[in-house]
Amino acid sequence: MTKQVLILPGDGIGPEITAEAVKVLNALNASDGLGIEMTEDLVGGAAYDAHGVPLSDETMAKAQAADAILLGAVGGYKWESLDISVRPEKGLLRLRSEMKLFANLRPAFLYPQLADASTLKPEVVSGLDILIVRELTGGIYFGQPRGIRVLENGERQGFNTYVYSESEIKRIAHVAFKAAMKRNKKLTSVDKANVLEVTELWREVVDSVAVEYPEVEVKHMYVDNAAMQLILNPKQFDVMVTGNMFGDILSDEASMLTGSIGMLASASLDENNKGMYEPSHGSAPDIAGQDLANPLATILSAAMMLRYSLGREDLALKIERAVSSVLDQGLRTGDIYSEGMIKVGCREMGDAVVAAL
Ligand code: NAD
Repeated sequence: MTKQVLILPGDGIGPEITAEAVKVLNALNASDGLGIEMTEDLVGGAAYDAHGVPLSDETMAKAQAADAILLGAVGGYKWESLDISVRPEKGLLRLRSEMKLFANLRPAFLYPQLADASTLKPEVVSGLDILIVRELTGGIYFGQPRGIRVLENGERQGFNTYVYSESEIKRIAHVAFKAAMKRNKKLTSVDKANVLEVTELWREVVDSVAVEYPEVEVKHMYVDNAAMQLILNPKQFDVMVTGNMFGDILSDEASMLTGSIGMLASASLDENNKGMYEPSHGSAPDIAGQDLANPLATILSAAMMLRYSLGREDLALKIERAVSSVLDQGLRTGDIYSEGMIKVGCREMGDAVVAAL
């Protein structure tokens, strides 16, 4: 059956980078019988300009009906002074929450050809290949009650609630264990169980789920130590699983070990592995429309889409190999350029990936 993919280019460099990913997917449709049908729609500032909202109900319905979504990026100077309720980012948040995309997968993979791009010593990061699994729809970012209240003595007090139910922990743990089974079968669960009861429960539930995956070696680590170990010896990690806030922070830390924001893909999945795929970077308005953006993070996000939502691991690997091959050829967009390499634009990079397929 033909799978439906909704393409949401968004703002800034979004349209340029998604166009290159679409090129790659079209090439696989033609050469490998990928058999997907792509339709395009508006999100973010582009949707606001057209409809007065950053995501229309019609687009939301199309997203619900699609098998997967590939998104570019949203936001830009033009929309910064809008009321917060209609800012471009709200379009993304609506997609994540209404589609119940509770599992955020962010690989931090260092292509050996780019080892010099990291701020850490090449011997510390070369060979780095970590997958961070972050819970995306719960924890302290969503817990109630929350707010800023005035105490009896007139002083203001801010408060949030860190809460996770057993079922929420279980479902993200299953995602992480399944991912570990497809990789090196090592899982590190990150918590703060020495201080926070909510993560004491987290640890207990992860251990109870572990029984179903006897081949996976499980380790628990406090978040402060995990932050330190990521810098000290990042190659000890295979898959890491953690809650929303710790995951937010650790995934940014891990991604920067690779030194190149233009290379990092991400996936946000629901219970049935339906997902939204997007690069980890933003809409880069400073370079938009100039054919300067690196499309590889978006192309690699498309590879994740084939792996997790469309059941085509073979073609995901094919894309990843093609990306590696263009790096071997010395092709570099500005963000990953170093002396002696061949500088190319966004379109040329996309064409090179298609040729390398
Ligand atoms: P950004 O990631 O857009 O840009 C940071 C820097 O990295 C810029 O110098 C940019 O030119 C560069 N860069 C980013 N992606 C690149 C690519 N593919 N190739 C080459 N260079 C690239 O972050 P920012 O500047 O903080 O935010 C710009 C806008 O993007 C804001 O409106 C922000 O709200 C939005 N944003 C959106 C998302 C998203 O859509 N998921 C995420 C982060 C930021």
